[in-house]
Amino acid sequence: MSVLGKISGNLAFTYFKSVINRSLNVQLALFSSTNMSEIEKKFQLPKAYRGSKPSVWVEYIQLAADYKPLNLGQGFPDYPPPQYVTDALVEVASNRNGHQYTRGFGHPRLVQALSKLYSKIIGREINPLTEILTTLGAYEALYAAITGHVDVGDEVIIIEPFFDCYEPMVRYAGGIPKFIALKPKSTEGDVLSSKDFVLDRSELEGLFNSKTKLIIVNNPNNPLGKVFSLEELTFIADLCKKHNVLCISDEVYEWLVYKPHKHIRIATLPDMWERTITIGSAGKTFSVTGWKLGWAYCPANLMFNLQMIHQNSVYTGCTPIQEAAAIAFEKELTRLGSEDCYFNAISKELEPKRDFMAKFLQETGFKPIVPEGGYFMMADWTPLESQVNLESEQDKYKDYKFTKWMAKKVGLQGIPPSAFYGDDHKHLGENFVRYCFIKRDECLEDAAKILHNWKAGKTAQTSK
Ligand code: PMP
Ligand code: GLN
Repeated sequence: MSVLGKISGNLAFTYFKSVINRSLNVQLALFSSTNMSEIEKKFQLPKAYRGSKPSVWVEYIQLAADYKPLNLGQGFPDYPPPQYVTDALVEVASNRNGHQYTRGFGHPRLVQALSKLYSKIIGREINPLTEILTTLGAYEALYAAITGHVDVGDEVIIIEPFFDCYEPMVRYAGGIPKFIALKPKSTEGDVLSSKDFVLDRSELEGLFNSKTKLIIVNNPNNPLGKVFSLEELTFIADLCKKHNVLCISDEVYEWLVYKPHKHIRIATLPDMWERTITIGSAGKTFSVTGWKLGWAYCPANLMFNLQMIHQNSVYTGCTPIQEAAAIAFEKELTRLGSEDCYFNAISKELEPKRDFMAKFLQETGFKPIVPEGGYFMMADWTPLESQVNLESEQDKYKDYKFTKWMAKKVGLQGIPPSAFYGDDHKHLGENFVRYCFIKRDECLEDAAKILHNWKAGKTAQTSK
């Protein structure tokens, strides 16, 4: 990087940091203040959004910038994506054509490639023009699917722990989230698997009623890594059919499933195509989280509702990114099912990282929950409670205190899982921390060293 580039990068960072700090302070002050000035009162968030707080991502990305711990928090690889993926973007960028607006509901070459892929996988012809929408990350697909279907007063079933944006998206639409937590079958034994976390069937059944509009299933699940079994999905599907409920299936980690577990798409179960919206992400599929490219596929009548939200809020996505993703999909389509196909290679690449993380967490006193899918691991940190002094941290929830204290005093950052539960169930996440393992081996070795040193009492626990 040139000196000028470095300086402007640093300036941009400092500016960004101060803006975030200011906006966090203002918002927190507004949130807690009963004594608002007229201008503050009038220009609050509109009622539909009131009560919104900076998310765990905003807070923890700032924490990482402030204390510079080894960051196993927000999920992204710390190593480059496959060469052919970045080559595709170079090729696209160097062509002087193809930099203008593209088709609003999805770049033609990309929706064709997605249609080829998912028609094969789902076992039915998926129309690229009417049954697929490309979006700005899976976030926007979720937003369009939720806002495009939830009316004021509709109930939405959300399985905890859940990717945190589901709840505010449902509330913004006037919906009422109804939470149900995955709970451990037994707490015996040293190493739990995400498989041990299950839904209570009668509790789930009790949540379905005439007001239920949809259920959101995240499979594989973030943060737990649970991969739902055929039996579990069939139970959910039968309830959806019985009560005429839609299913949003967030499958952004669809290719990240560890043997012997298999990813089953709920849209492929009998009579579920007509009531399922499936969501994917190029960020996860090709390890390019910064591309912020997502998609949804579902029958045309449901897709119309997503299209309307997308059309009037975003209209069209980024052309070169979509073209490059199309090239990447076309390559994978030629080697689908083979060992080299990235969709198979990625979980093979990640499995040893997962196992290494489970090992060092266990050796250093945590109780890891080994995930069947995804690239996160939850671990119970409470066996280490006597080694931490959380009095300095002001947060309400213990896992927030623990993760902040660890970032500041021990130099390792994770994410507090209570962020992935509704208010009534946050205690279920408090004993845990979530770490991300899609990192270079050296990075994971450093994380292991940090924890071993901490355990051996060699960490200088002073504020940085
Ligand atoms: N769903 C889940 C479960 C996620 O973990 C994420 C985070 N990437 C998203 C959706 C959003 O994905 P994207 O970055 O493509 O917007
Ligand atoms: N899905 C990623 C995670 O869970 C990224 C989250 C985000 O960018 N908001 O860490």
